[in-house]
Amino acid sequence: MQATPVLPKPFKHCAPSLRVLAAGAAATALTSSLSGWAMAQSREVRVYSGRHYSSDNAIYERFTKATGIKVRLLESNDAAIIERLRREGKNSSADVMILVDAARLDNATREGMFQPIRSAELMRDVPLSLRDPQGRWFGLTRRVRALAVNSSVVNPKTVNTYADLAKPQLKGKLCLRNRSSVYNQSLVGDQMVLRGDAAATQWVKGMVNNLAEPVFSSDMSLARAVARGECGVGVVNSYYVARMLSGQTGAADKTLANKITIKYPNPAHLNVSGAGVTRYAKNKPEAIKLIEFLSSPTGGEGYASGSFEYPLKGFGNNPILRRFGNFKFDGVSASQLGSKTRAAIQLMAANGWQ
Ligand code: FE
Repeated sequence: MQATPVLPKPFKHCAPSLRVLAAGAAATALTSSLSGWAMAQSREVRVYSGRHYSSDNAIYERFTKATGIKVRLLESNDAAIIERLRREGKNSSADVMILVDAARLDNATREGMFQPIRSAELMRDVPLSLRDPQGRWFGLTRRVRALAVNSSVVNPKTVNTYADLAKPQLKGKLCLRNRSSVYNQSLVGDQMVLRGDAAATQWVKGMVNNLAEPVFSSDMSLARAVARGECGVGVVNSYYVARMLSGQTGAADKTLANKITIKYPNPAHLNVSGAGVTRYAKNKPEAIKLIEFLSSPTGGEGYASGSFEYPLKGFGNNPILRRFGNFKFDGVSASQLGSKTRAAIQLMAANGWQ
């Protein structure tokens, strides 16, 4: 059975992609023993994914080769996937849902879209700070909310923490993405946990005061503005700049990205992309197997590296990310971030973050 496509909705994250594929059809044909072939025919896992990186497919194919379990994949943006799952209810064909950002994972959890699972492998491979303590979702990759600096406008040595972005010296030099970005909601939630509501409020006010221009609708447009010198510093997930540097988004972006210095604030706010087994999964053992594979050191390294994210442990081997240097995790867990989302949005709205 093949999942039918969702209708993509206006996209606030990255470019939408919508595909349904049966990864590993070729691998199935290569399976030599009859019993293996029969097993591959009968076992599958159906995935709704808010990730949209072509590099993910190679990892799903590796999973199929290793296990004989076919991956049926439906990719769209997180909002469309959640809406679809909500609409389908018990009849949903999804076994696994993959979302980006702890805030979205937490929202889906609160809606009861995931079921708790037990797995010794997941306990071992996914640090507690990167998963739901009740086992309803598990981080797969880590992403860092970084400072993108144009050194001809702002000396990178003067911005070392998120708090530095509120310094009066940066007046007219800061660029931010909009409040509706879950990446920023999680960042503000992170600072509320670490520094308390009063300090976080002053920080948001200071940043709003420093804005060079109206807030951006995407990390990519913000990164380009930093490169062009419209802003001296902005806040982006570092994988966007890495992707520009790789040439994946075109030669013009590669030239622009070379004008950006990525600084990891010390300590750094980390977020995750993560997966859970859906509440009404029809293929639960296969779903658990897939999540175990994606979070294992073997499967996870490629999953993270292909999208310029970091694996769950260590800093990975992606040569572009190595150029950005290492980071020190600030210790705020993904589930703490999720629990702060609502309060963070209120704080941002009350203090002028559009
Ligand atoms: Fe993104």
